[in-house]
Amino acid sequence: MTRPVPVTADADRLWSTLEAMAALSEGGPGVTRLAYTRLERRAHELFAEWMEDAGCAVRTDCAGNTIASRPGRNEGPAVGTGSHLDSVYAGGRFDGIAGVAAAVEVARMLHQAGVETDLPLRFVAFAAEEGARFGQACCGSKLAAGLSSRAELDDRRDRDGISLAEAMAAVGLDPDAAASAPWRPADWSAFVELHIEQGSVLDDSGVDVGVVDLISGSTRLELVADGRASHTGGTPMRGRADALAAAAEAVLAAERLALDARYRGARATVGRLLVEPGSITTIPGRVTFSLDVRDVDADRQRRAVAEIMGRVRAICLRRGVGLSARPLADTSAVVLPDWVRAEVTGAAGEIGVRYRVLTSGASHDAQMINRVTPTAMIFVPSRAGLSHVPEEWTDPAKLAVGTTLLFASMLRLDARAASVAPDARLPPVLAEPVGEPS
Ligand SMILES: [Zn+2]
Repeated sequence: MTRPVPVTADADRLWSTLEAMAALSEGGPGVTRLAYTRLERRAHELFAEWMEDAGCAVRTDCAGNTIASRPGRNEGPAVGTGSHLDSVYAGGRFDGIAGVAAAVEVARMLHQAGVETDLPLRFVAFAAEEGARFGQACCGSKLAAGLSSRAELDDRRDRDGISLAEAMAAVGLDPDAAASAPWRPADWSAFVELHIEQGSVLDDSGVDVGVVDLISGSTRLELVADGRASHTGGTPMRGRADALAAAAEAVLAAERLALDARYRGARATVGRLLVEPGSITTIPGRVTFSLDVRDVDADRQRRAVAEIMGRVRAICLRRGVGLSARPLADTSAVVLPDWVRAEVTGAAGEIGVRYRVLTSGASHDAQMINRVTPTAMIFVPSRAGLSHVPEEWTDPAKLAVGTTLLFASMLRLDARAASVAPDARLPPVLAEPVGEPS
């Protein structure tokens, strides 16, 4: 049975929301609006102003996440949506922002059409999702999910040595409170995050939207190869301990392993490499480099890391180069609950949106929020799969389709939550406190 949704997203209005956010950027190419900066807070203030105009009550939690609530006919657990407002260095105008703009648009659609929901709805702009500044992704949503400790906020530092806690305090947030005030599962019934795909599956296939079933886990390490710096002219080729030559072999070993059929699906990348002393006339004495291994199969991810590390150790040993490794992050893939996904795909069927079920190689706030409340993700296409670059692009009409689907999904989830007796609303497993990810 087809039941048309009476309201569709306004592509032009969505576009002007994106434009207003894109204007809040440091100089240089693309958008640079880093985690826990004045610019990021300004974006949150703008979001708050828009949401108040759309009839929501707005508050900011201790982690800097801005939460706009729209009352329903009854009190009770809310259906939520949202994404993040920070960017990487020289990033695009869609990553994160598309999901917040979609949230703003849904609130405006509801307001304009005078839709009354059974239970409250909430629209969230998460703080500090990108790991670009502090090397840790999803800071705001991790704090909301009770997955970050106070010590972590002191340990993580940006390239200027400023800790996460210091950066939070500098923009008026309270890191002590943030680490001890997670969201309450009882306040939520479900959450849906809209995000750009950051891959090319949708663009290649021409399908309007993706609905995510699995989000990859990732293991990140910082490796240091210690060789022997010396004069490039005076030192014979034999007997050198060139740290960069060892690191170069390590980069290729990681790539080769991820291409091996036994590890199909794993992604291994060395994205950062610091060569010291970094002189044309000195053999590299030390190289510090990153290794990022991602997979939707947690077991294969850990085996890939172990095997890459075994190969890198052998390379360094053969070259007389020392090796040390420090873990930066280790998360397992998250399986998003199928019943929330079924409401989203059900809504897609009702309004005639073509979708495809996909996995996500990138991590997202949804992954953390799924620890608080059952969560789904809607992907909109990224042109040529490009993301984290100024060329990032999503067709405004496709974003509007995704937003209309988000609107319809939230109404279905609201109706579903309202049909559950209040004392049976929270599944027992979610009533337990959330702990560290395994
Ligand atoms: Zn993002």
